[in-house]
Amino acid sequence: MASALIALGGNVGNVRSRFHSAIDAVCRQAKATLTARSSDYETPPWGGVEQPSFVNACIAIETALAPHALLAVLQDIERTFGRDRARETRWGPRTLDLDLIAYDDVVLDTPELTLPHPRLFERAFVLVPLAEIAPERVIAGRSRREALGRVSSDGIVRLPDLD
Ligand code: ADP
Ligand code: MG
Repeated sequence: MASALIALGGNVGNVRSRFHSAIDAVCRQAKATLTARSSDYETPPWGGVEQPSFVNACIAIETALAPHALLAVLQDIERTFGRDRARETRWGPRTLDLDLIAYDDVVLDTPELTLPHPRLFERAFVLVPLAEIAPERVIAGRSRREALGRVSSDGIVRLPDLD
């Protein structure tokens, strides 16, 4: 079994309830066990497109799927929840974004999949939720804590738990 960190994001419709269903789908389709789940966070949009704020969260799973197979499952679930990559703007509004942040300590650079996630260390909206589930984690030789100290987490707000 491998341990994978996955970041969830979205800013269209009821994102928090979609996260709940999407996490169930990840566990089912990746034959995975959920080992940790962060709170949900409201986060400012990133990447320069004017759009509503996002909700972000991170989970940790144990899975027997290989990295590319896991990415295929994540992309399939994005589609199930209404994401249409053909019609969206890069870094624009989306119903559901599922990024594979890390898969054990695998380092990979292929056209479809880069591990760890190439923009992980620039994104407070990933590093902040990750603090709850993997505070001391070192990814590709870089500590999550140190990386978060170098980016702005302005405007990132932890949302109260849903009942
Ligand atoms: P972002 O994840 O940066 O917000 P997208 O969700 O639009 O952007 O993903 C763009 C592409 O990134 C996808 O087509 C996917 O194949 C590729 N990709 C490369 N590495 C990863 C990864 N670790 N996790 C998810 N997608 C990845
Ligand atoms: Mg993505």
